[in-house]
Amino acid sequence: MKASYDVIVIGSGFGGSVAACRMAQSACSVGVLERGKSYETMNSFPRDWSDPLNGWLWSVGQGLFDVRPFEEMTVVQGAGLGGGSLIYANVHLRAPEDVFTSGWPQGYTRAALDPYYDLVAYMLDINPITRSHSLGIPTKTELMKRIAERLGRSQQFCYPNIAVDLSAPGTNHQNKFGVDQQGCRFCGECDIGCNVHAKNTLDLNYLALARKHGAEIGTLCEVTGIRPRQSGGSNYVVTYKDHGDGGTERQCEAKYVFVCCGAVNSTELLLRCRDIDQTLPNISRRLGYGYSGNGDFLAFAFNTKEPFKPSEGPTITTGIVYSRTDGGSDTWFIFEEGGYPKEVGGIVQLLNPREDWFHHSEVLTREAFRQAFRHKAQNKGGFQDPRSDNSAVFLAMGRDLADGLIELHPVSKTARIRWNTPGNLPLYRAEERFSTDVAEAMGGDVAFNPLWRLFHVPVTVHNLGGCLMADSPHLGVVDPSGEVYGHQNLFVLDGAILPKATGSNPSHTIAAVAERCVEAIVQRIPQKSGWRAPEMSSATHIKDPLSSIAIPAGGTIPTATRPPLSLGNTQRSVADSIAEIIGRLSGRSN
Ligand SMILES: Cc1cc2nc3c(=O)[nH]c(=O)nc-3n(C[C@H](O)[C@H](O)[C@H](O)COP(=O)(O)OP(=O)(O)OC[C@H]3O[C@@H](n4cnc5c(N)ncnc54)[C@H](O)[C@@H]3O)c2cc1C
Ligand code: SF4
Repeated sequence: MKASYDVIVIGSGFGGSVAACRMAQSACSVGVLERGKSYETMNSFPRDWSDPLNGWLWSVGQGLFDVRPFEEMTVVQGAGLGGGSLIYANVHLRAPEDVFTSGWPQGYTRAALDPYYDLVAYMLDINPITRSHSLGIPTKTELMKRIAERLGRSQQFCYPNIAVDLSAPGTNHQNKFGVDQQGCRFCGECDIGCNVHAKNTLDLNYLALARKHGAEIGTLCEVTGIRPRQSGGSNYVVTYKDHGDGGTERQCEAKYVFVCCGAVNSTELLLRCRDIDQTLPNISRRLGYGYSGNGDFLAFAFNTKEPFKPSEGPTITTGIVYSRTDGGSDTWFIFEEGGYPKEVGGIVQLLNPREDWFHHSEVLTREAFRQAFRHKAQNKGGFQDPRSDNSAVFLAMGRDLADGLIELHPVSKTARIRWNTPGNLPLYRAEERFSTDVAEAMGGDVAFNPLWRLFHVPVTVHNLGGCLMADSPHLGVVDPSGEVYGHQNLFVLDGAILPKATGSNPSHTIAAVAERCVEAIVQRIPQKSGWRAPEMSSATHIKDPLSSIAIPAGGTIPTATRPPLSLGNTQRSVADSIAEIIGRLSGRSN
C-alpha cells in the first residue's frame, strides 16, 4: 500500500465496497484496508473438515469467520475481502415502507431509497430461486411452499431475491464486470464461501470495478487507529497491523476516511479512538447506542416426515412474514428456511432432541456447554449423517427494539454488548412459537439454538447500529450522509449507521444507504455537483417480493403453538416476566 491516498476505506463489506467503488469512479485515489484474506481465486475457501483451526476462524490465523461470544449476545461476522458477502446467505430484501416512518433522519423514505436499491440490485444481479435453473427447484423450497399452505400462510409466503448466478453450472463465464463466475450447482455451501464463485460476492463486482478504476486493495491489513493529521494536505492518519508481514505496524494518510468495519467493529474502533487513544474526542456521546441484533432467532426441525434436504440448493430461498400485535407488542418478523453443507450434517444432529446429547447437569455454565459441545463434536468422528435429509434449519429475523449498547469493557478495553433480552422477549417468543408450528407441520421435532434454550443468549448474524445516523449529534453519531459529527471528512458507511432494525435481511439496505450517502459525498467535491453512479442509468426498477405480501386487517393469524402460561391480557409467560425482572435487577435493560 502507498503512504497516501485521497480516500482510505477501512473494511470491504457492503458499505466499504460501495464506498471504494464509487470514490474510485469519481477519480479519487483509493486505498482499501481489509483485515481478512482474499478469496478471489476459485477454490480458496477453507474446506479442511478435520481441523476447525485451519482457515475457519478469524481468531486463529485470520480465518473466514469472526465469532464473538459476548456474554449477552453471540455475534457471527465475516472476515475477508468482500466482508459478510463471502459467508452470507445471499438474500436481498428491501426494508418495507413502515420501517422508515420513525427513527430515520429526514429524507429517508422507502421511495427515496428505491433508486439506490435498484442500483444495488443491478450491481449484484439478484433474482428469486424460481428463475429458471437447469437443476430445477430445491426440495426444501418446494416443501416450504407446502408448509406455508398447510399453516394458512400462503399469502405471506415469498421467494426472496438472492445474489446467486442461476445460469447453468459447470463452466466459467464472465460477469458484467469481466470477472469469471460459474452457475450455481446447488451444493448448499453458501455460508462457508462458494468455491465456484456462483455467489455474486462483493469482490466479484463492486470491488473488481473499484480496482479497474485504480483502487489499491490491501488484505490482512487490520486498522488499529485513526487520528487527525496536524499539518499538510491530508486530513487523517490511519494505522494498521500488516498481518501479511508478521503484524508490522504501518500507517497511511488520506483526506477522506471511510470506516466500514461492520456494526460491532466500526463502533469498537471509534470507541477506542475516542476514549482510549483520545484521537477523535469530538465523537458524539451516542456512540455505541442503538445496537440491534435484527431480532435474529435460530431454530431447527429434526426427524421430519418429508425430506427437507438442507444441503441442496442455495442456503436461503423462501420466506414467510409474520406481522401482528401480540400481547400489546407489534411483532414483525420474516421466517426463512436455511441450509448447511452436508459435511456438517453429523454435528447438527447433536442438537436433535431424540439424541439427548446435552444434559442440563453437564452444561450449567456457558463454558461447560462449549466444552461439552467440542468434546461431543470430536467424538462424532465422521461428519456426514444419513438423517440430514430429514433435518431443517430456520432463521427468523425481525424488528427488535434496537436498544442494545456496544461499550468497551473496563478491563480488557475490547467491545462488549449489553442486550435487552427481557425487553425483546415478546419477539423471540413469537419466533419460537412460529418455528414450533413449522417443525410440527413438517411432522418433525423442533429444536432451538442451545445457547438460547439454556442461557437465553441470542445469536445474531445481522448486527446493526452503534454509530447511528441522525439529524443531530445529540441523537446520533453520523449525519444523514454518513459524516461523523465533529470530525469533517471522516465517514461511517456500514450496518453501524442504520438507525433501527430492518426486520428483513439488512445487506440490501446497508448497500442502498451507502450508495445514497456516497453520491451525496462525491457531489460535495468541487466540479462534481451533478455526479451519479455510472451504472445508475442501466439499473431498472425491481419489484421487491415483500411488496406482494398481503397482511390481513388485524394482522397475520396467530401461531397454533400457544404461549405457555398467560398473565391476563399481556399474554406473557411467568418465565418471561421473571426473566424481565432479573434483567432489570442486573441492569441489562437500557
Ligand atoms: C452466516 C451469515 C449469513 C448471512 N446471510 C445474510 C443474508 O442472506 N442477507 C443479508 O442481508 N445479510 C446476511 N448476513 C448479514 C450480512 O453479512 C451483514 O449484514 C453485512 O455483511 C454487513 O455489512 P457491513 O458493510 O456492515 O459489514 P461487513 O460485511 O461485516 O464488512 C465489514 C468488513 O470490515 C472488515 N474489518 C473489520 N474490522 C476491521 C479492521 N479493524 N480493519 C480492517 N478491516 C476490518 C471485516 O473483515 C469485513 O470484511 C449474514 C451473515 C452471516 C454471518
Ligand atoms: S449453492 Fe451456494 S455455494 Fe453452492 S454453488 Fe450455489 S451459490 Fe455456490
